[in-house]
Amino acid sequence: MKLRRWQQKVIDEFPDIIKNYRKFILKAPTGAGKTVLASELINMFYKNKKIVVLCHRLVLLEQLEKGLSNEHKVKKLGLSETGRPFSDYDVLISTNLRSRDFLMKAIGDCDLLIIDEAHRVSPNGQAYKELLDQFDAKAGEQSKLLGLTASPERRTGDQKDQLGLAFDAIIDCADIEELIREEVLVPAEYKSFFIHDLELEKMDISTGDFPVEQLSNAIIKSSMIDYACKIYMEERKSIKGKPISAWFCPDVLVAEETKRQVLKYDLNVELITAKTPIKERLVILEKHESGEIESLISVGVLSEGWDNPNCNIIVHLRPTLSKVFWGQSVGRGLRSAENKEKCVVIDVSSNFTTFGPVEKLKWKLWNHRKSYLEFKNRFNWISKEQFVENRDYTYLLCEGMNKDDLRCSLVYKKKILSDQPCPVCQSYASTDLYKDNKIEKPKNDNSLHKVFFERVPKIFSDMNTNIWKNMESSAWRDANIYEKLFLSFCLAFDFVSGESTNSENEFWNLTLQAEKKVRTFLYEREIVIPQQEEFIFTHLSDGLSKGRVIRPVQTNYGVSICGENFSKNTSDVNERKFQKALQVVERIAAMGVTNTEELPYYKIS
Ligand SMILES: [Zn+2]
Repeated sequence: MKLRRWQQKVIDEFPDIIKNYRKFILKAPTGAGKTVLASELINMFYKNKKIVVLCHRLVLLEQLEKGLSNEHKVKKLGLSETGRPFSDYDVLISTNLRSRDFLMKAIGDCDLLIIDEAHRVSPNGQAYKELLDQFDAKAGEQSKLLGLTASPERRTGDQKDQLGLAFDAIIDCADIEELIREEVLVPAEYKSFFIHDLELEKMDISTGDFPVEQLSNAIIKSSMIDYACKIYMEERKSIKGKPISAWFCPDVLVAEETKRQVLKYDLNVELITAKTPIKERLVILEKHESGEIESLISVGVLSEGWDNPNCNIIVHLRPTLSKVFWGQSVGRGLRSAENKEKCVVIDVSSNFTTFGPVEKLKWKLWNHRKSYLEFKNRFNWISKEQFVENRDYTYLLCEGMNKDDLRCSLVYKKKILSDQPCPVCQSYASTDLYKDNKIEKPKNDNSLHKVFFERVPKIFSDMNTNIWKNMESSAWRDANIYEKLFLSFCLAFDFVSGESTNSENEFWNLTLQAEKKVRTFLYEREIVIPQQEEFIFTHLSDGLSKGRVIRPVQTNYGVSICGENFSKNTSDVNERKFQKALQVVERIAAMGVTNTEELPYYKIS
């Protein structure tokens, strides 16, 4: 079989990978060919070995079965399996976690355990914890756990439910941009529209995402669906060949309303939900693949485990705080196919302006408790783009009218000094999102970075360090919350390693080590820090610039902690320390310090 370049590369490097890691994730985009890779790895490195594959997708199961059956004997796990695993076969595939006892035995015996869609693995959840423990305890020393996913991140703040606990490393096998260049994937063309009457601000997001019922009501009340349909009717004209689209909705109510509105345009449309019987679903999917059904509307079932390479338009009708969900759903449209040049992504849910293009998403093995909060700012990503060095573009919100006499509201990137009109309605009327301060000030570290790197060496060289270093107790004693966080930041900067890291896992190991040291320091001095709803980076830089929130005593004491270190290091080392210290203080702010907490990497002795 002819392998893709990236697949061959992973196979070439595989002996080294398994030498270095026991439990690892191979990360590659949706549509890159992870299943083929998995079969090849099994065929090449696991002949006559025992393999367990856990997958959520029937499609994957079928593909694996096909790819492996020449050289292996494959068995699908039944619902009530008994006896000895691997009695007359060497690959056990399962799409469910039933036949629990049997599965446990098999995992204890296996040489390789593959988990597909590995971002679903909750190291602390009922479904997986036992299986992972079994692997750790019973599988042989040489046995490996291999996860596959496009989006290796648990979107949860629970520190016991982080991918970093189940896997030692993420191995980045291929990224979207690379695969677009190799024509394995096609580029996405984002069309992002700001729906003015969609009210998301007041929703309670304490669960980590918009509550579906409230979200659904807000969407129905707004003009979102109407917009989506009208934009769709325009965009489908730009598609070479048949337009074939997937529409993502938060619930059945929105999905049904969408279907009703799409029908008005005389398009062939179908709706599938979790309740659609599997046979019916397969028929619909087949018709969608051929284009007989142009628009497929779905609730919750299409974001994973569905493949239609011919799909060339994605319509996103579900605002979310989940980067994983955004990445997964757009990823569905990027697979290349004959005559397919691009995938148009119509986003009426502000996900593009919140998270940015899917090809630029970054994933984390560790998340702090309220990591989703930044995504409440619907312009989160665009705000951050403001600080790109030598930026020669800006983002505009179109104020023109489209041909249906609605506000156009396209959010688009325009080169500064160019005089291009809105690419959708050709209007020149627009709001510059940066100039007119239309977007919330970003909660990022850029201002802190500048102030920290400029002021710390200056303050430090002017100060009498002997005096200030002795101010520890008075600096902490009456510190306000921001001062405590500022001081924690200085401590973290002092404690954290500045060595360069080659993987995310290494980065997080060093970061968590420093966090542990800061927590120990605070514990020993009985200092507590209340949890923060939102973390305001600019307050950290206040002492170094204005001194209104953070007073001179704390500022000077803080600089005396980290200044010496700062002045001795190269700027590269300082940069690396700074980035990790930021993560530490953000985690401390989000989780608080009670001195009774037990985290997987930190226990009070
Ligand atoms: Zn426009």
